[in-house]
This record gives sequence, C-alpha cells and structure tokens, in this order.
Amino acid sequence: MKNRHTKLGLWVIAPLLLAIALIPARSIREAAAQQGDAAPPHNPTVSDVIETTAGDLRITPVGHASIMFEIGERAIHVDPVGDYSEMRNRRADLILITDIHGDHMNAESARSIAKVGAVVIGPPDVYRSLGIPTAIAYANGETSLVNLPDMGVPIETVPAYNLTRGPSEGELYHPQGRGQGYIITLGERRIFVSGDTECVPEIQALENIDVAFLPMNLPFTMTPEEAADCAKAFRPSIVYPYHYRGQDPQVFADALAAESDIEVRLREWY
Ligand SMILES: [Zn+2]
Repeated sequence: MKNRHTKLGLWVIAPLLLAIALIPARSIREAAAQQGDAAPPHNPTVSDVIETTAGDLRITPVGHASIMFEIGERAIHVDPVGDYSEMRNRRADLILITDIHGDHMNAESARSIAKVGAVVIGPPDVYRSLGIPTAIAYANGETSLVNLPDMGVPIETVPAYNLTRGPSEGELYHPQGRGQGYIITLGERRIFVSGDTECVPEIQALENIDVAFLPMNLPFTMTPEEAADCAKAFRPSIVYPYHYRGQDPQVFADALAAESDIEVRLREWY
C-alpha cells in the first residue's frame, strides 16, 4: 500500500515539477514582485560596454531602478534593492541612493552588496532612515569628488521631484528637495541616473550627458512620451528607459527615432 501511495504521489508531483521547471525565471520574478514575495536573487548576465578614458565602462541593468556600473576594479551600484547574494563578486565601492521609497532604498540590500569601506551616498532623508552610520548625506545640488582607492569619481546631484503628479490635490508623490538623481563622471563620461522624477527644469538644463537613465512608471513619474520629450530637452548621447514597469519603452524609442544624435537603448529591467 505504501508503495502505491508513493507511486501515485510521483505521478501527481512529476508533471508539477516539470511545469515549474519550464516557467522562465523572469515570470517567477514578476509574479513574486507582484505578490510582494521575495524575488529570486539578482543575477544579471548582460551588460553594455562603453569606452572611456579610464578604460571600459560596463553598464548592467540589475532590476527595476537598480543599476550597476563597473570600471577597472571598481563597482558602483545605484539604488540596490533586492537579493544580491549571487553578485558577491561584484560588490560596490560606491553606492548611490536616490530616494527613501522601498524600490530605491533598502538598507539590507545596500549592506549586503557594499565592500568594506564602501562609500554610501544619499540625500539627507535617505541618510536619516538608512541606518548605515558611515553613509554620507548630499543635499540636492551638491557636488563632490568621491575618492575610491584608485580613482576619483566626481558626483553631482540633480533634484528629482514631481511637478504635477501626486496622490491627491496639493500633494506630490516626490516633493521637491527629498530625492535626487546623480551625474557620475567615469573616465570623462558623464552618466546621469535620474531617480523618480518628472522632467524638472534642472534636468532640462543638463549639458554634455553621455548616458542617461529616465523613468516612466505611472502614476509616479512620466509617460514614455514625456520622458522622450525630456530626452529631447537635454539630448543625452545614449538614453536608457528604466523603472518602466507597466509602460511600453518602445513608445519612448519610437518618439525619439527621428533624433539622430540620441541613441535609445532598450534593455531588460524585469
Ligand atoms: Zn521608484
């Protein structure tokens, strides 16, 4: 009897196991994220390489708003959120955090991906809630040179906020003064990561941006069309739509198709 039960169990379980094995990792991650469960560990395998005067810069989409930059021996993580246990060989020398919301700031993730002595930078509200005593607060608009072991990295902050969008009349999802994007200069390339923002005047006024990352998640930031108009305002040489869950980044790419000096790169963030 016991044997029959075991066999019957296998008949039920085997197709189930097969079905689970056939579900692509991405849909599991998507489903987990929607349910608020722990998503599988980040393990990005695809990077873009850009030449700089300090050697190749590798740009890796990690997920949602999380980005990794690698140059020489150094790694810079922006908004590390989620499980980085599979990325222990790509620990951060520098971590930049844009805002206090859970899809940008997660103390556990930041700690887990930081090298010993890593520099952690966030706006004052992030600094206050992060609970990492060695973190450094940079206010909106502040500029500084971060000294990593073998390279200086100029960091400029760019305010990130809503102009019109908010949860109710008179409120904004991202009030001015709290969150910020960053311009990171690596080997004379200026990389701009916007954070959660609409196309505020400070972004429209940016100059000489080599690579930009713009968000388009509604109702919090911009539509793909608005983000495309924003790219037209400051004309980065390369622009990545990121943080785009629920939007079609192809709409963004189509809206910029006629702009021969702006290259749109669509990559997988989810
Ligand atoms: Zn966000």
